[in-house]
Amino acid sequence: MSNVFDLSGRKAVITGASRGIGAAIAQLFLEHGAEVAICHVADHQNAEAFQNRVRSRGLELHASECDVSDPAAVNRFCTWAQERLGQVDIVVNSAGVGGGDRPFAMTDDQDWDRIIGINLRGTMLVTRAFFAGMLERQYGRVINVASQLAYKGAPGLAHYCAAKAGVVGFTRALAYEGAPHNVMVNAIAPGPVDTDLLRNHSAQWLEAKKAQLPVGRFGQVDEIAPTALLLASSAGAFYAGQTLSPNGGDVML
Ligand code: NAP
Repeated sequence: MSNVFDLSGRKAVITGASRGIGAAIAQLFLEHGAEVAICHVADHQNAEAFQNRVRSRGLELHASECDVSDPAAVNRFCTWAQERLGQVDIVVNSAGVGGGDRPFAMTDDQDWDRIIGINLRGTMLVTRAFFAGMLERQYGRVINVASQLAYKGAPGLAHYCAAKAGVVGFTRALAYEGAPHNVMVNAIAPGPVDTDLLRNHSAQWLEAKKAQLPVGRFGQVDEIAPTALLLASSAGAFYAGQTLSPNGGDVML
């Protein structure tokens, strides 16, 4: 049997991939033969350190800066990525920010627009830059990183939960348009994963959260990335509009 997870010859763009879940996905895609271009928004040191780690293993990673909520920056990034890679076969929208536990009554327009702008609008902007080309070539994979909070909600995170539920709906709607052209659009809804995003919460919040999880621990990025590999590779060719949930049992659908 051929390796159904092989990505040789495939070109992937992964947003928010200088650290955390996006970086783990980029690393796994590279290890499976894909050529990869990533973006991050601000932390150059992290991005450079990641690039150096990859290079020390004999692999090459294209990296650039882009705020995915800014249409002009997304246009520049997507043009840059296409110049580096040629056609783009796989898009992973992993760029995201958490909400900061602010009660809804204290949430102003700026908070709301920032969280929706990065988590939902950014996903739309980057996908749109590559979707038409995928339809034309009759091949593509779009993988959007949502969250289990899209289903269960959480106090103080109305904007984040709304954004991630929007990502799930966007994924389903786009899957109808893509699937007839072999462009498969799916999402991943991780449970709590040990990254900087989670570390922004208080120790008390983290302990309470952990106690609620059937597995009794947070996930590791390496436990999320294989789901993206499944959806990006020929192993995932029959998934359309699905949201897969590596979540430690946080939500059971
Ligand atoms: P993370 O460790 O905080 O990493 C976030 C990444 O996104 C970094 O590379 C960051 O770049 C980049 N980024 C942030 N804002 C951006 C922007 N405006 N434009 C482009 N890139 C931006 O986060 P993570 O935990 O890996 O989260 C990745 C995705 O998983 C997010 O969509 C998040 O909502 C989702 N998720 C996470 C968890 C969790 O528990 N960790 C659970 C469910 C879902 P810089 O380094 O330059 O800031």
